[in-house]
Amino acid sequence: MTSHKTDLVIIGAGPAGLFSIFEAGMLKIKTHVIDTLEIIGGQCCALYPEKPIYDIPAHPKVLASELIELLEAQAAPFHPTYHLNQRVEKISKATVGDFEDETSKNTKIKCKAIIIAAGCGAFGPNRPPLENIEKFEGKSVFYSIRSKAEFTNKNVVIAGGGDSAVDWAISLAEICKKVYVVHRRDKFRCAPESASKLKQLHEEKKIELVIPFQLDGLEGSNGKLSSVLVKDFDGNIKKIEADYLLPFFGLAMELGPILDWNLNLNKNHIEVNPTTMQTSQNGIYAIGDIATYQNKLKLILTGFAESATACHDIYKIIFPNQLFHFEYSTSKGSPIES
Ligand SMILES: Cc1cc2nc3c(=O)[nH]c(=O)nc-3n(C[C@H](O)[C@H](O)[C@H](O)COP(=O)(O)OP(=O)(O)OC[C@H]3O[C@@H](n4cnc5c(N)ncnc54)[C@H](O)[C@@H]3O)c2cc1C
Repeated sequence: MTSHKTDLVIIGAGPAGLFSIFEAGMLKIKTHVIDTLEIIGGQCCALYPEKPIYDIPAHPKVLASELIELLEAQAAPFHPTYHLNQRVEKISKATVGDFEDETSKNTKIKCKAIIIAAGCGAFGPNRPPLENIEKFEGKSVFYSIRSKAEFTNKNVVIAGGGDSAVDWAISLAEICKKVYVVHRRDKFRCAPESASKLKQLHEEKKIELVIPFQLDGLEGSNGKLSSVLVKDFDGNIKKIEADYLLPFFGLAMELGPILDWNLNLNKNHIEVNPTTMQTSQNGIYAIGDIATYQNKLKLILTGFAESATACHDIYKIIFPNQLFHFEYSTSKGSPIES
């Protein structure tokens, strides 16, 4: 068990959670951030990293993964502590304004306030039912990609037929020794232009399409993969020499433990007072996709504004005896400059 103490715990490292690190930091509020995924970025990185977003103010066009890199850089001067790959299971209140969060990895964090920026709930990858896959996970089998560089000059098997599988196959084809795409149908569920690009790279022999096949087994030792076995519908097995397997079978999303935290809910969303973003419990706030109120817009930019509203209200909890003077970042400056 590891224990920590901080001012504010942010549950969810999607865009709303990440921007809260910055907003809190500007108010001298210290933060710890927890996410179920092994990477930060929430839906942006887990579901559509290579897609351009057009409605972020002052960014006519920005890739979802780039937006997350920028948010991470903006938050970095405030030295947040990230606890990834673990789900918050329990929130308990020791005394008023004194909470404890407990995660699936037995991390306990004492804090004075909580922001729930949990999107549609905790993400978890849909794992292929392969024997011993857990021995390779995190070493040769990844369900999400943070840095492409690791795959340079490697043989990579991507499994799946949706946007993530196709987008990553196209992107990794530039740097890998060989990319194989294993899919059980000959049609891909992705944007038509991505499907055409995949076909073109296949014709150019930069990607090998292994269709219609399904994953059947893994070979290797000590977490290091040597080959991936695939099977067609007649039971014929084929062996693909591989350094990495990237299964992209979508993500399961579930509110999970959030349902048990005694908060007022409305159709699986957390009800908040939109003037403060506080939930039905003092000291617990909700922002981003998970928060609901009248005329709520589920957009990234809404989550950004909500994080500012929440952090300004949380200031009163963290510094109860200090008068709050509203200041612009231009007048107050930022640690990046100092
Ligand atoms: C394909 C697609 C395209 C989109 N395009 C746009 C667009 O162009 N413009 C736009 O504004 N929006 C767009 N969106 C919506 C946008 O991505 C969401 O509004 C945004 O991601 C919400 O951010 P968030 O931080 O609230 O939550 P999320 O991004 O959902 O992140 C929440 C995080 O919380 C974590 N979490 C949940 N429960 C727990 C728990 N108990 N413990 C630990 N971690 C937990 C999850 O694992 C997740 O990582 C798009 C969405 C999709 C799917």
